[in-house]
Amino acid sequence: MAIAGSGVLPAEVDVAVVGAGFSGLYMLYRLRGLGLRTVVFDDAGDVGGTWYWNRYPGARCDVPTTDYAYSFDARLEEDWVWSEKYATQPEILAYLRHVADRYDLRRDIRFGTRITAAVWDEGARRWRLRTGDGNEVSCRYYIMASGCLSLPKTPDIDGVDRYRGEVYLTGRWPHDRVDFSGKRVAVVGTGSSGIQCIPLIAGEAARLTVFQRTPNFSVPARNGPPPADRVTQLATDREGYREAARWSRGGVPSELTDVSGVTAPEFLRRERFEAAWQAGELFAILGVFSDQGVNAVSNEHVAEMIREKIRAVVSDADVADALCPKDYPFGTKRPCLDSSYFETFNLPHVRLVDLRRTPIVAVTEAGIDTAEESFEFDAIVFATGFDAMTGPLVSVAVTGTDGVTLEDKWRRGPVTYLGLMTTGFPNFFTITGPQSPSVLSNMVVSIEQHVDWIADCLQRLRAESLDRIEPTPLAEAGWVQHNQDCADITLYPRANSWYMGANVPGKPRVFLPYIGGVDAYRRACDEVAEQGFMGFRLDGPAGSRCNDGVIRRLQPDMAMVLDLVGSLGLPPIETMSVPDARAFSEATAASRPPGPEVGEIADAVLPGPAGDLAYRLYRPPTQGPHPLIAYFHGGGWVLGSQDSDDPLCRDLCVRTGSVVVSVNYRHAPEDRFPAAADDAFAAATWIAANAAALGGIPGRLTVAGWSAGGNVAAITCQLARDAGGPEIASQLLLAPVTDCDLGRPSYTSNGEGFILTAGLMRWFWDHYADEADRANPKASPLRGTLAGLPPAVVVTAEFDPLRDEGDAYAEALAAAGVPVRHIRARGHTHTSLTMVDVVISGAPVRAEITDALDGLRSEPSRN
Ligand code: NAP
Repeated sequence: MAIAGSGVLPAEVDVAVVGAGFSGLYMLYRLRGLGLRTVVFDDAGDVGGTWYWNRYPGARCDVPTTDYAYSFDARLEEDWVWSEKYATQPEILAYLRHVADRYDLRRDIRFGTRITAAVWDEGARRWRLRTGDGNEVSCRYYIMASGCLSLPKTPDIDGVDRYRGEVYLTGRWPHDRVDFSGKRVAVVGTGSSGIQCIPLIAGEAARLTVFQRTPNFSVPARNGPPPADRVTQLATDREGYREAARWSRGGVPSELTDVSGVTAPEFLRRERFEAAWQAGELFAILGVFSDQGVNAVSNEHVAEMIREKIRAVVSDADVADALCPKDYPFGTKRPCLDSSYFETFNLPHVRLVDLRRTPIVAVTEAGIDTAEESFEFDAIVFATGFDAMTGPLVSVAVTGTDGVTLEDKWRRGPVTYLGLMTTGFPNFFTITGPQSPSVLSNMVVSIEQHVDWIADCLQRLRAESLDRIEPTPLAEAGWVQHNQDCADITLYPRANSWYMGANVPGKPRVFLPYIGGVDAYRRACDEVAEQGFMGFRLDGPAGSRCNDGVIRRLQPDMAMVLDLVGSLGLPPIETMSVPDARAFSEATAASRPPGPEVGEIADAVLPGPAGDLAYRLYRPPTQGPHPLIAYFHGGGWVLGSQDSDDPLCRDLCVRTGSVVVSVNYRHAPEDRFPAAADDAFAAATWIAANAAALGGIPGRLTVAGWSAGGNVAAITCQLARDAGGPEIASQLLLAPVTDCDLGRPSYTSNGEGFILTAGLMRWFWDHYADEADRANPKASPLRGTLAGLPPAVVVTAEFDPLRDEGDAYAEALAAAGVPVRHIRARGHTHTSLTMVDVVISGAPVRAEITDALDGLRSEPSRN
C-alpha cells in the first residue's frame, strides 16, 4: 500500500502522523499492522527526528543504548549491536534508518513536508490537514509524534541577525562537517547540548569562549562499551529485562533506594554518592537518596558533593566557582552527562564568561558585547535550547471543535488527559505529550507505551464500530490536578527550567511532564482502558458511551504510602489483641521521621480526675510567651499516648508558634466512656489555669485533637461552655469522630483500603462505649448543643470514613452561629496530615490550618 513516499498525496487516509523519529516510525509500524491507511509527514529529509537535526559535535544519547532502543521486536534487538554505552548521533541515526529499511517504512512517509494547519470537521468526523506546500489531506485520526524537543528556541538576544560570521544552532546543525580549526568560536548556552559540544569544539578551535548564564550539574558519562552486566541480562532474559523497564520509575530497570539523605550518616551518603558518580548514569545520580527530589536538605547533600567534584577538576578557583550551580536544587534542571566538560576549562585557549556577572548586551556584526567587554568571533554556536513539549504542538494551527485552537486552549499551560489527548480536539493524539512521563523517562520506553496504547485504542474503536474519541472535561481536569499534585510535592517547581516552561519568554510557568513515574503512569493508562476508556466519550455508528470519572484522586504520596502498606500484607488491627495493637502502633510510630525541630520538649504530669495524666510539652524556638494548644492524640480511645502524635505536635508547634501540650488520657477498654472525655476536660482546665507557668499567653488557649482526640477536644469545648470555663479561644478538630452513626456514605466509600477502616472504627467504638452510651453528646458531640462554642477549625479528609461526620459537625457548628473554618483536605486520608515528612502533600493543608487558626485568633473572642 505505497501511498505517501512518492506520487500524489492521497486525499483521505485513516491516520495522519506528524514526525518520523522514534515515535512516528513505531506508530507507523503499528498502524500498518492494524491495516490502517497511514501517512507520516516530516519536515526533515529523512527519518530520525531529533537525531536527524541534532548533528552537533559530541551529540549522544544520555540513557545507555542498551535501554535506548526499541523493544517491540526481539529480532530487531538481536540484529543490532551498539558500539558504545552512549552512542553518538550518527550511530543512533543509522539505527533509525535501519529500522525504516527493515520494515520498509519510508514508502508511507512524506519527507520535507510540514503540516501547518489542522481543522476538525465535526460533520465528517475527520481532521483536515494542510501541508506547507499547499496540499490537503483528510484523516480520521491525527497523531502528533513530533517530539518534545524539536522546536529550537530563537536565541532571545539583541542583534542576533546582525552578526556577519558563521552562526550555528545545535538543534539545526548542518549536514556537512563544520570545521572550527584555527577559528575564534563562541558557544552560548551550557545545557546538555552545550556541555556535549564544548569539549569537541575546544579540541579544534583556536580560541573558545563559553557564555554561561546558568551553570549546570553534570556527571562524567564514563562512556565505553555497552555495560557488560546489562548486555548479559539482555542476552539471558531480554523480555524480562524489557518488562522490568516498562514497570520501572524512569524506564530503565533500577533498584529504588529507601536511604534518606537526611537521616543517612555521612559515610553512607558519600559511599552512595560515589557509587552513582562512578556509574556515570543519570538515573543513578538522580537516585542517590530516596528523598533527594522532594527534600531540600537531602538534595543539597548531592548538590554539594557534585560541586566538590567540579572544584577538584577545575584549576582556577574563580572559574570553578562560576561553574558550580547554586541557585536551584540538583535534578530540577535536567542534569547532563559529559565527557571532559569541566576539564575543558583548564585549557589555555578556553575562557568562561559568566553572564550573571557580565550579561550579554547584544550580538554585534563581529561578535558579542557584554556589559564589560567586546568579543570578536569567526563563529557563534547557539546551544540555547528548545520551546519544549508544547512548542512543537502549538506551532501547528490546530483548530478543534467550536473553532478553538490548541494554542488558545493552552494559553495558560497545557491541559490534557493522560498527556495523550485534550478535550475539544477529538481523535487527536500526542505521543509523549505534556503531562506524560516523556522527558523525565527513557523516551523510547515511554514512546512505545504511548504508541501501543493509541494503537490498541484505535483497534478497539474499530472493533466496536466507534470512530470518535474525546476526553471529558471532568477526566481532563482531574488529570491536570493530579499532575500538579505530583509536581507540587517535589523540588522541581523551584527551578527556572524548560520543564517549567521558564526558558521561553512569555511561556506560562507550569510543570510540563508527569513526574509520578513510568510505572504509575502506565498503570493509570491501563486502568483507563480496562474501565471502558474511563474519562473518554466514545461515539460512532454503534452509538455513544462514556464512563466518566477521574482516574487518580488520591494525593500521590499518600497513594504510595497505601501501596506500601498494602504490599506488607499486615493483619488488620481489629484482629489483634489490644496489647498487640498497642505494640504494633508503637513500633510503627518509632520508624517514622521525627518532624521539625522545636525549641524545647519536656515531659511532665498534670492532675486528672482519676490520677495523674502524663503530658509532653513542645515549646517553639522563638521568645515566649506563646499561644497555647491543648492537644489530644488519636487512636480510637484505645491506642496512643502523649507522644504518639509527636511529628504532628512538633509541626503544629513550629507552624503556629504555640506551646503545644499533648496530654495522655485514660484508654479503653481499661477505662471506658466517659473516662477519655473527662480527662480531656480536666487537662484543658488545668492547662488554662497554668497557662503562664507553661509559657503560654493566658486566654489564648486552643483545644485541639486528631481523630478520637478530635472527639474529646470537641466535647471539652462543650463541657467548658456548660461549666462556664475554662476559657477556650478556639478549637481545632482534625478528622474528628463526632458521631456514633456508622451508616454515613463515607463509611462505605472509604471504609476499606485507607488505613482507618470501617471495621477498625467499629472495634474502637466497641472497646470504648456501650451501645446505650454512644448517642450521649459526651461520646457523639454532633448530638450536643453547639451554640456558644469557641470558633472552630474543622479539617476533614476526602478519603476518610469519618469525613461525613466531620463535615456534618462543621456544618452544624456554622448553623449554630459558631465561626467555622472548614478545610476539606482533597485527596487525603484519615492519617495523611499526621504523616509529617512522609506525606508531603499534607504540608500545604497544615499551612492552611495555621492560617485558619491565625484568622480565628485575630477575631475577637466570643467567650
Ligand atoms: P537547555 O538545556 O535549555 O540549555 C540552553 C542553555 O542556553 C542554557 O544554559 C540557557 O541558560 C542558555 N540560554 C538560553 N537562552 C539564553 C540567552 N538568551 N542568553 C544566554 N544563555 C541562554 O537546552 P539544551 O542544552 O539544548 O538541552 C535541552 C534538552 O535536550 C536537555 O535538557 C535534554 O533533555 C535534551 N538533550 C539531551 C541530550 C543528550 O545527552 N541526549 C543532548 C542535548 C539535549 P539558562 O539555563 O540560564 O536558561
